[in-house]
Amino acid sequence: MRFETIPGKVEIKKQLIQSAQSEKIPHAQLFLGKEGSAALAMALAFSTYIHCTDKKEEDSCGICPACLKSSKMMHPDTHFAFPVVKSETKKREDTTSEDFILPFKNLILSNPFASFKQWIETITTSTARPNINVKETNLISQRLSLQSFESDYKILIMWMPEYLGREGNRLLKLIEEPPDKTVILLVAEDSELLLPTVLSRCQITKIPLFTNKEIKSVLQRITGSTNIDESVINLSAGNISRAIELLKSEDDGYGSMLYDWLRLCYKSHPEDITRFCEDIARWNQEQQRNFIEYGLHFLRAFHYWYFSQTWTDDISESEKDIAFKMKSILNFDKIISIEELLNEAITHIYRNANSKILFFSLSLEIGYLLKS
Ligand SMILES: [Zn+2]
Repeated sequence: MRFETIPGKVEIKKQLIQSAQSEKIPHAQLFLGKEGSAALAMALAFSTYIHCTDKKEEDSCGICPACLKSSKMMHPDTHFAFPVVKSETKKREDTTSEDFILPFKNLILSNPFASFKQWIETITTSTARPNINVKETNLISQRLSLQSFESDYKILIMWMPEYLGREGNRLLKLIEEPPDKTVILLVAEDSELLLPTVLSRCQITKIPLFTNKEIKSVLQRITGSTNIDESVINLSAGNISRAIELLKSEDDGYGSMLYDWLRLCYKSHPEDITRFCEDIARWNQEQQRNFIEYGLHFLRAFHYWYFSQTWTDDISESEKDIAFKMKSILNFDKIISIEELLNEAITHIYRNANSKILFFSLSLEIGYLLKS
């Protein structure tokens, strides 16, 4: 991963590059960025740059053997640690990142902006809380005490140190006085969940969320198309990981699905609604939330059009068709009430409500409203 993969953030990249060129790399750094920021991507690009044997002014070279290894997350001097759950074959206390390194690399190589939620959903369906355990911290100390293999530097990228809990204390000494030529990069979303003792020992780099223009450029690169639906960009609110999810769900046709659902609600046949709820319960939380958010986005636009008879820019032609079809069953009061119900539903999804029951009662309530 190179800096060029991350749009914008010019000043941050410049500072990191300067620190590597002057060989004055702070030995413990915290990259702090909310879900969907480039915090992890920035740590990967920085480690690639540090190892690169032919550093350029603005980026790593991308072609030296070190860069090639980094691009596959296989450089022997970059170590990863991240929260995991129990592996199928080991006890929880014996499980470490090493047991999940392949799925981790697969996820991050396919999407360096992947969210922590996506990660956990990749490795487990259970609700057990992931963490970074004692064995992991011991392993980290061991690895960093060894000589580097190929590069001048050994690097540890620890993703989501929030999940260290009190084990963070075990790393204090390492963070304060790491072995020579060692760089520890912590990549976190919420500094309040870190031990103050860890926080105070790190140099902090804040990675802001993306601008709409930056999101657009990432989506253009991923899809290979210049034609990106503006509604995806607007809905993502600077969170690239959500933008990518939304783009996928666009392909899945949320618009027509919303229309089908509202029709089902209107007819209120329990069997049809049950089937719909069973389908949607197979989705993960993120997809369920995206669907509801899409519904809210659509209703807001519908609402605006209802009054002004003009469309906002973020509504596509097919959505306009759907809106025309819905005109006969929706009016101003109903739109407002459904918006309230959908907002409540998002809160319930966050609180891990049973999705079948949630969508069933939501469907009946919406049906009742539509017919009233
Ligand atoms: Zn290189």
